[in-house]
Amino acid sequence: MEYEKYHKNDIVTVTIEDIGNDGEGIGKVDGYTLFVKDAVIGDTVEVRITKCKKNYGYARMEKVLVPSSFRVEPKCGFHRQCGGCQIQAMRYERQLMFKQDKVRNNLLRIGGFTTEQVDAVMEPIIGMEEPWHYRNKAQYPVGYDKSGKLITGFYAGRTHDIIANTDCALGAPENKDILEAVLAYMRENHVTAYREKEGTGLVRHVLIRTGFQSGEIMVCLVINGKKLPKEERLVERLKGVTAKRCVVSVSVSVNTERTNVIMGKEIRVLWGKDRIQDTLGGITFAISPLSFYQVNPVQTEKLYGLALDYAGLTGKETVWDLYCGIGTISLFMAKKARQVYGVEIIPEAIADAKENARSNGIDNVKFFVGKAEEVLPTFYAAGNVSETLAKKASCECGEDERKKSNGAFSDEQMRHPDVIVVDPPRKGCDEKCMETMLAMHPDRIVYVSCDSATLARDLRVLCGGGYELKKVRAVDQFGGTVHVETVCLLSQLNV
Ligand code: SAH
Repeated sequence: MEYEKYHKNDIVTVTIEDIGNDGEGIGKVDGYTLFVKDAVIGDTVEVRITKCKKNYGYARMEKVLVPSSFRVEPKCGFHRQCGGCQIQAMRYERQLMFKQDKVRNNLLRIGGFTTEQVDAVMEPIIGMEEPWHYRNKAQYPVGYDKSGKLITGFYAGRTHDIIANTDCALGAPENKDILEAVLAYMRENHVTAYREKEGTGLVRHVLIRTGFQSGEIMVCLVINGKKLPKEERLVERLKGVTAKRCVVSVSVSVNTERTNVIMGKEIRVLWGKDRIQDTLGGITFAISPLSFYQVNPVQTEKLYGLALDYAGLTGKETVWDLYCGIGTISLFMAKKARQVYGVEIIPEAIADAKENARSNGIDNVKFFVGKAEEVLPTFYAAGNVSETLAKKASCECGEDERKKSNGAFSDEQMRHPDVIVVDPPRKGCDEKCMETMLAMHPDRIVYVSCDSATLARDLRVLCGGGYELKKVRAVDQFGGTVHVETVCLLSQLNV
């Protein structure tokens, strides 16, 4: 065979001409394709082949021979080991172009749209003004290095070996001082760190959440036991961390299970508040250690602002927000709509959503617990079909609430809303859900997606069912990584 001339451990020189979906560099030697992690498009690199397949292989970057004009000095010295920021060595503008192209290519290849169609509807990607220190949540494992020294940092890519680093370039700048304070408390008071293999030792993780608007910081230690020794000393240490933003909440979460799940179910506040606050689009959210909350608040505001803009609300509309989480989009929309209905599978998230609606004085939104693909068909059917079907829905709005509402849940507007918004997880929308969405015949569908491949697959279904793709725009929520969010507007075809 022609390509049998390459073997594992061969050293070759390759020029990187393309970028793979996971951010890896792609180049060819003598027509043989190599995937090279950490190589930047335009680089000429010396690589060591790590795996040979018939038509392609994988290689490890050993040396950059000629750096690409898109290559920058990575901000974090650990970025290759960590793997969290796959494309940190790429100039930010080029990262944005890569993300825009990724969405575009998926629309062409998977969505089946033509180049003309895509070019006519696609708006330029919205980037970040400051692509560093944007995350408001971080979870650091605590453990020991090879010499037995107490450390905290991150797991080396695909392993559970901890590499010491208290200064992640994506986290809030205060995290470093907070982590150092936790380590100092542990050393002084002989508090042990968890040893995963043995299941012994006490402190497993440190969770830090920051309200970027409110300036409030929450620190939660996840422990393999009931109690921390000399808790008050930890609190004193953390209160002593002085920065622009301050620690206002210190808690422990008990997790004695031998599991990869980080947080335990039970939270005990040691000092200060049980929740911190933050504001998104003028709406205040209360965040506990266990609540879901978008990790990049600055870009989330832009993302949901765009979804709101695409929804084209005037105050008269009925809106369904499917996969609504803690109701962020629902509450954004409620300010401009007549009535919003949110659906989400996790009961705790719906409890938070209701509380957020209440504390912000928003009363034109109702939330239902259940699968979108079950709740939506039930309500669609409720106007003309049996009670049995309605009962089957795993939504909390059962018989009693339906009666109390004097039929408000089976009204025509609910069955035929003006707008349906979806923000599904990576696997995209369920088929049954899309089938019902099409049957409900809303004027507009706004699709918010964190995976442009499943987005493209679903758009093909929706466009095949009487809708037209009107607008597409990517929003970068995660600088340095290969992830990208996309918002799309679909309108009913008037034929
Ligand atoms: N818009 C939300 C986040 C959406 S993330 C916000 O801003 O907070 C996707 C959400 O879909 C998650 O909360 C997940 O729990 C929920 N989910 C997953 N599968 C679902 C299903 N089949 N039906 C309804 N919700 C689902």
